[in-house]
Amino acid sequence: MFHVCLALWTLCSCWGCGSAGTEGFANTRSAAKPLRIVATTGMVADLVRHIAGEHGDVMALIGSGVDPHLFKATRYDIKKMHEADVVFYSGLMLEGRLQEVLKQVNSSNRPVVAVTDRLDHAYLRSPPDFEGHFDPHVWMDVAAWSRCVDWVDETLSKIDPVHADQFHQNAKAYQTELAELHEYVRKVIASIPESQRVLVTAHDAFGYFGRTYGIEVRSIQGVTTESEAGIQDVNRLVDFLVERKLPAIFVESSVNGKNIHAVIEGTKSRNVSIRIGGELFSDAMGTEGTYEGTYIGMIDHNATRIAHALGGAAPDNGLHGRLTTQPGAAVSQKPQLGPAFAVSLVR
Ligand SMILES: [Zn+2]
Repeated sequence: MFHVCLALWTLCSCWGCGSAGTEGFANTRSAAKPLRIVATTGMVADLVRHIAGEHGDVMALIGSGVDPHLFKATRYDIKKMHEADVVFYSGLMLEGRLQEVLKQVNSSNRPVVAVTDRLDHAYLRSPPDFEGHFDPHVWMDVAAWSRCVDWVDETLSKIDPVHADQFHQNAKAYQTELAELHEYVRKVIASIPESQRVLVTAHDAFGYFGRTYGIEVRSIQGVTTESEAGIQDVNRLVDFLVERKLPAIFVESSVNGKNIHAVIEGTKSRNVSIRIGGELFSDAMGTEGTYEGTYIGMIDHNATRIAHALGGAAPDNGLHGRLTTQPGAAVSQKPQLGPAFAVSLVR
């Protein structure tokens, strides 16, 4: 139930119930200077950058390849949040270990806003393994992420009303790009032969993707990576893969690949050969400064590479011909010593 409390706290403290409202805040800053904005994930930062344009300096706390479920703020991060004009986070308990910090920052008169706050609860998935919380991975459905644009537009316009018209224009332009992306993803996933239209990944980040674009989704870990997968989770997936004989499964850039490699070994021992179809960007975008280091590039990469690996049709270089990764390449063949691995060592 914590997500409900957090959402209520956010709404109350930001929008008129308390002293930390954005209305008062708007009166205390100079409209000539760009807003100082801190965002948690790269996806949130990218969204906010598109809307704020030249009127916002956006800093992302969680970098490429870093798992937001496990991310903890440094003293520097907390300082930056306290200095910001507004902090945007993804919400729905994605940033599970940042909740206290976000609450503290908000209580010190800073607007702290979850971009997913206005999504209809009837839309949200409620996975049974996530202790009554909603599935936070809504950016995987481009149409839902596009609805979050409206909330960011509204928030920025309240904080900086002088530039509201520009924010509205930027929001509309970005939503046009997102609509094109949404249609592309729908088309390339539908091109996969039906018997092979199954996406197998390390953790359950693709639930909205599967529901929206019509592909069955299986994973070893649940919605959060905070608890370790057990041998029974691996074996369950090996049984499924042996039965279905899928051509490929996928690793994720922000999640330790050891479980997926254990599944590959498991299928091998039962004389079924399955390859790794590529590395997908689930909870973090690609390298900063590349096309895959943008939200549109990240989703384009995922949809294009999933279609290629599972027998569908998609242009080699994706929607805009800008993908830098090659089909079947850019795969981490050995387990990554990322944050998930470090956690498993100390436990
Ligand atoms: Zn996740």
